Amino acid sequence: MRILMLAAEVAPFAKVGGLADVTGSLPKALMALGHEVRIMMPRYRTIPTDHLAVVLPSFPVMAGLGDQPAKLLRGSLGDVPVYFIDNPYFFGDRPKIYGEEDEGEQFAYFCRAALDALRHLQWAPDILHAHDWHTAWAPLLLKESRDPFFAATRSVFTIHNLAYQGIFPRELLDFLRLPSRLFNPTEVEFHGNLNSMKAGILFSDEVNTVSERYALEIQTAEYGERLEGVLQNRHQHLRGILNGLDYAQWNPETDPHLSAHYRADDSRGKAECKRALQRELGLPEEDAPLFGLISRLVDQKGLDLLADVAETLLASGAQLVILGSGDARYEGYFRNLADLSPRCAVRIGFDAALADRIYAGSDFFLMPSKFEPCGLGQLISLRYGTLPIVRETGGLADTVHEGDNGWVFQDYTPTAFFAAIRRAEDTFRNRERFESMRKHAMQQDFSWSASALKYVEMYQAAKKH
Ligand code: ADP
Repeated sequence: MRILMLAAEVAPFAKVGGLADVTGSLPKALMALGHEVRIMMPRYRTIPTDHLAVVLPSFPVMAGLGDQPAKLLRGSLGDVPVYFIDNPYFFGDRPKIYGEEDEGEQFAYFCRAALDALRHLQWAPDILHAHDWHTAWAPLLLKESRDPFFAATRSVFTIHNLAYQGIFPRELLDFLRLPSRLFNPTEVEFHGNLNSMKAGILFSDEVNTVSERYALEIQTAEYGERLEGVLQNRHQHLRGILNGLDYAQWNPETDPHLSAHYRADDSRGKAECKRALQRELGLPEEDAPLFGLISRLVDQKGLDLLADVAETLLASGAQLVILGSGDARYEGYFRNLADLSPRCAVRIGFDAALADRIYAGSDFFLMPSKFEPCGLGQLISLRYGTLPIVRETGGLADTVHEGDNGWVFQDYTPTAFFAAIRRAEDTFRNRERFESMRKHAMQQDFSWSASALKYVEMYQAAKKH
């Protein structure tokens, strides 16, 4: 099959969270299965153009009031071609990826430009695979165009996080040059505004989210973010497919950022990684249980629970390492905690190399999320033999099992979280048991091998529409 991926983030070109990991690795796994895959994303200011080839120097993109031409550039990700939509006004001159005031127009422009670029390339995919709200208009634009060029093209939409829906005033429909008849509650209207995510869910041939548990959860009021009804209506075309990890990239036997390497049946290198991490971060080099957390610092991630238990945890002699950035109040709180406790190290910012050293050097990984569509942090930590302590929700519930490869708590309370931490610490003191859990975790397979096949099945289902 010919597959085109559309996404706002693709690692290593641009990464904010797990979306980039998926769009940067699933295409390679699909190529390995014999499919022809290409990726398209915006060219942000942070992406240098010197190594990119110019494919189309200028092509017209009809958006807003007139023609807003774009350039099409091409790079690659292994064997997978990556196209960049380059327009200085909408993307090239902006300092950040998300959070611009006109991000509705920015990503609407991207969707229109992507379809126009395909026409100019004379490459009609069998499957247009859109990811999250940023690219969610593309399936609708495809349907509305009724373009014979796309007669055989079907669309699928992946929900990576339902909490971010891309809600904008109705005028965005004009910008997209879509008919105003679509503005009604059974189509793209959502409480008086437009909802990009809703358009993706309704107008794609097949829809999925990134774990089986989350696919069920989002059909309930608790997790549905007011789209549960829309999702229930499409339940026959909605499935959960767990994200895979790129096992070549995330590999403690070869990871270039680590000072020592290790594998499931010989974890001596892991002990060295722990000491090196303690040294790097100025923590006492003692054999205390070391808890790591790497995350966007936002409410979703359960950081209020961690804030509640952190002092008690540190007082009991444990060590805590936090890497992340996000909401100012969490950044401030954790910075302050590090100032007060010599056993706590906090780094605010995005640092992929340090992240690897924390995954390798920690004994435990904390993910007390309120909700978690899939979660990659726990999968990476399992791969690195760092046992996760997670809340039983979404992909965390599908991948971490109490006493098997980690610890799991249900209620979103500091008490329940702390009890799970205590169970983990008890096991830490029972070395034999702890080592056998760690070995088992490292031997589990969360690579793309199973999940890529499930995407192919979904594409086949979309082709039947
Ligand atoms: P989400 O997509 O909600 O942010 P995931 O667990 O699915 O959460 O994916 C997060 C990804 O981003 C992981 O690869 C994690 O290691 C990485 N990450 C998050 N914050 C940072 C940071 N500050 N520095 C480096 N990597 C980070």
